[in-house]
Amino acid sequence: MAYPTLTGYADPSLHARGLYIGGTWREGAGIPVMNPSTGDVLAEVPDAGIADAMQALDAAQAAAQGWRATPARQRSEILRRWFQLMTDHAEELATLISLENGKALPDARGEVAYAAEFFRWYAEEATRIPGEYRRTPSGSHNILVEHEPIGIALLITPWNFPAAMATRKIAPALAAGCTVVLKPASETPLTAYAMARLGEEAGVPPGVVNVLTTQQPAEVSNAMLADPRVRKLSFTGSTAVGRTLLAEAARRVVNCSMELGGNAPFIVLDDADLDAALDGAMVAKMRNAGEACTAANRFYVQAGIHDDFVQGLTARMAALRVGAGYDPATQCGPMITRRAIEKIDHLVSTAARQGARVTTGGTPLPGPGYFYPPTVLAHVPPGTAIAREEIFGPVAPVYRFETEDEAVRLANDTEYGLAAYLYTRDLQRALRVGKRLETGMLGINRGLMSDPAAPFGGVKQSGLGREGGVTGILEFMEPKYYAVEF
Ligand code: NAD
Repeated sequence: MAYPTLTGYADPSLHARGLYIGGTWREGAGIPVMNPSTGDVLAEVPDAGIADAMQALDAAQAAAQGWRATPARQRSEILRRWFQLMTDHAEELATLISLENGKALPDARGEVAYAAEFFRWYAEEATRIPGEYRRTPSGSHNILVEHEPIGIALLITPWNFPAAMATRKIAPALAAGCTVVLKPASETPLTAYAMARLGEEAGVPPGVVNVLTTQQPAEVSNAMLADPRVRKLSFTGSTAVGRTLLAEAARRVVNCSMELGGNAPFIVLDDADLDAALDGAMVAKMRNAGEACTAANRFYVQAGIHDDFVQGLTARMAALRVGAGYDPATQCGPMITRRAIEKIDHLVSTAARQGARVTTGGTPLPGPGYFYPPTVLAHVPPGTAIAREEIFGPVAPVYRFETEDEAVRLANDTEYGLAAYLYTRDLQRALRVGKRLETGMLGINRGLMSDPAAPFGGVKQSGLGREGGVTGILEFMEPKYYAVEF
């Protein structure tokens, strides 16, 4: 099919792609943005340096007092308008996401709806920031606690959800009264710039949200973290980069929220409803073609249901239509880069060499574009690299187990602890096993857990803090305690 050109796809107001600093757009070039469905260059965006980043901080600083003093109701209404504008432009934004990220249109539409909901949720939460009053147990004085905006926040986001990972940070930060500098991933900057344009239209004052793209993320973010005006780092990305940023933030003791990698187990107990488990498995594995931090990475299936599960999963995976993200018939789009394909191929071929049986897929597809087919691996030996590393692709390795204890031990045998899934008809059993799983989130008979009203985040090396929910706003606030005598 013919691919839409960038200029043909949408309302021209969404074509912004300059650095967005202090409410002005600075056109430029230096970073090519690829279309992973074709391997062609879609556009170029500016490559910001340290001087640009300092100007973004100047702008965020100049706007900080005014935004903090803006009544919560007014901040809320701006966020609500931003939600509405994203919703009004949902189809254009979905197309843009699909073009620069490659994900299938239904996934892109789902992402836009999810992303917009953070603005609506935090428009509501902005007006309900909690406080606390109590008398000390000894009766010595009164304790008054108010939550203040933490200050300028640096937001760094990945390419796999270019809209949602940005709104999940911008919405609570603005609701709390903070100003921000957003650094989106260089692979998918166009969505971030388009959303900034909509924010401008929604009435976000100049300097409250600044956006810059750079090819030198370490140098630019380190320079910002070294600046005393930055009081918060909110990062979503890999655990490896998260660790480096935590070390960098430690120099000035910058407050950090970290949403890092995952290695989600998907456990099917032998009393599970097989069809429901297969439906859930397809969602948990194949949303975004497996390029999700919550993606089911290891399927642990109890002996009594194992063979039927492998057969059912193989049939469903083999039936998926692979194609360009933008093609309306596509169910599984391309991977983000050629390097991603090479990593997946390495994990799959190593597992196969070590004894795993490929029941469908298993070999990269020819280009142009970066395609890997939906793949199922059965009889995977537990010690292989594919059990330890994030696959980040459409590959489902299935492991057989006998007892609940064994499932829990295998599921917890990882440095990660972001998401887990569990299928059983017995709720008591689900809660009993669930309590023993080291995870920040658990889907019980459900393959999708993300929701703006829920606290999203992980334990162990999957992160620090939570995004979304009622506590997400507090990640951008500091409690101030007044000891009051009266
Ligand atoms: P990544 O860590 O390579 O990059 C994330 C962001 O950090 C990008 O904007 C990148 O430019 C920037 N970056 C890279 N090196 C940096 C450095 N040294 N200093 C400062 N910034 C730097 O991750 P990715 O490949 O873009 O995204 C995939 C990863 O993100 C996966 O591990 C996935 O699990 C994780 N992820 C986690 C969540 C979550 O909520 N826990 C959500 C989505 C993705």
